[in-house]
Amino acid sequence: MRRLVLLGGGHAHVLVLLSFADFVSRNLDVKLVTPGSLHTYSGMVPGVVAGHYAVAEAQIDLAPLAARAGVELVLGSVSSIDLAAKNAVLENGRAIQYDIASLNLGSLPDFSGAPGAREHAIAAKPFEPFLKCWSELLLKGLKAPRIAIAGAGAGGVEIAMAMKFALASRGMAGEVVLFSDRNMFSPDVAERIARALRKCGVQLRTATPVLSVNAGPVVASSSGSESFDALFWTAGAAPPPLLRASGIACDSRGFARVERTLRSVSHPEVFAAGDSAAFDTDDVPKSGVYAVRQGALLAKNLKRAVLGETPDRYQPQSKALALISCGGKYAVASRGNWSAEGSWAWWWKDWLDRRWIARFS
Ligand SMILES: Cc1cc2nc3c(=O)[nH]c(=O)nc-3n(C[C@H](O)[C@H](O)[C@H](O)COP(=O)(O)OP(=O)(O)OC[C@H]3O[C@@H](n4cnc5c(N)ncnc54)[C@H](O)[C@@H]3O)c2cc1C
Repeated sequence: MRRLVLLGGGHAHVLVLLSFADFVSRNLDVKLVTPGSLHTYSGMVPGVVAGHYAVAEAQIDLAPLAARAGVELVLGSVSSIDLAAKNAVLENGRAIQYDIASLNLGSLPDFSGAPGAREHAIAAKPFEPFLKCWSELLLKGLKAPRIAIAGAGAGGVEIAMAMKFALASRGMAGEVVLFSDRNMFSPDVAERIARALRKCGVQLRTATPVLSVNAGPVVASSSGSESFDALFWTAGAAPPPLLRASGIACDSRGFARVERTLRSVSHPEVFAAGDSAAFDTDDVPKSGVYAVRQGALLAKNLKRAVLGETPDRYQPQSKALALISCGGKYAVASRGNWSAEGSWAWWWKDWLDRRWIARFS
């Protein structure tokens, strides 16, 4: 009996579960290790914050998917991987032996460079505690909360506009201040986003990195020190620390280096996909749409590895469609040099996101 362990229930592994439904009769034991049985889909998180969706609408239940694929669901967090002994060790001390391991552990917001942020900011990921903190803030009864967000990438701008929209739709005043250290968009998309932020009433602080955070939280930046009721951290993508600690080959930041086949460059029995994986080229952004494309190949290559066949190679999409929601039912769409905006773009995103979730229900 060969043993395959899937570590993390991210975008790539949900596709592996789907695909393994027709692969159960093999002489194979498959386990999925995940802290919870629900995968929260990042694309719909801003919509949950805005109040367009209930949390459950943005979640995939891994338990029935695993059951259908004959995969054992192990609830827990991996704390280390012993590559020599081929063991994944969980926080509760349980060790899971494998012949093949697959890593889809995602990434975490990057707090480096801002002392105090880790302690006093609320990380956007994992999404479940983030969404809990957001609902608690809304329920606190503050008349006009002051909210700061660090990081103005796609996730940060969407969250900022969603929060402002949610406050307004509850009749609450309040400020949302978005700290941005650099522009993350092409000039025309940046212009559209800046206009949308203004329209929503989000205060964008351009070229203003958060320098440090104190209890309060009090945010220190080049524009001075300001007190907020909450600081949410969406900036950057940091690797799960257990990758480097395991001794697997990592890039300079600590993400697991993989070949185009998604196999680790140092340990061919280990595969990695999504944000946790690093390619030796710069053409693969850390984004859910890329994790999904990798997931389809990962499923294929894990089957091939089990059967002793040669794995296929990953070809990232040269251009990906980005749909950035703007608080209300309005979005900015872009792909390559093309961009446009409107409520049609929000409905398009809504249709795509709901279709993605429906694949797993
Ligand atoms: C606010 C926000 C909005 C975003 N919106 C979009 C969007 O609209 N479109 C898009 O393409 N990208 C979006 N992104 C980026 C996207 O979230 C990531 O690129 C994507 O989630 C990466 O997918 P993944 O499969 O690698 O990991 P994830 O989907 O993050 O999954 C990783 C899984 O691993 C689990 N895990 C972590 N550590 C452990 C452990 N130690 N043991 C066991 N399990 C573990 C986690 O619980 C999680 O379920 C957004 C990001 C943010 C912050």
